[in-house]
Amino acid sequence: MTETTIFSKIINGEISCKKLYEDEYCIAFDDIAAQAPIHFLVIPKKPLVSLIECMEEDKNLLGHLLLIGKNIAKSKNLKNWRTVINTGKESGQTVFHLHIHFLAGRKMNWPPG
Ligand code: AMP
Repeated sequence: MTETTIFSKIINGEISCKKLYEDEYCIAFDDIAAQAPIHFLVIPKKPLVSLIECMEEDKNLLGHLLLIGKNIAKSKNLKNWRTVINTGKESGQTVFHLHIHFLAGRKMNWPPG
């Protein structure tokens, strides 16, 4: 179970965001500190801390998050983008509510930093 995070506040409407999509399972919105010309996040409404917490019962939800992100990317006419899920502090996770980053609009480097 997650503690209260900035993302749980976005889900319950306490904090505003630039919302791109919402349904009963997830919400997608622009990242507040974009790292690329297009940078949005897709998050589950279910309070999962990170991918580590996800179980077999979450497989449909995880697929849903990816497909919603893909639909948003396609609606922006994107053909190239990077999808990132940071898991744990050392990976760079700063908000402890599962989220998928979608970044696009610039050349991406590999390996990531
Ligand atoms: P991570 O470092 O993978 O945990 O990513 C957290 C992301 O959440 C960062 O890219 C932040 O810029 C973003 N973020 C934090 N607060 C907000 C907010 N209020 N609205 C939108 N994005 C946010």
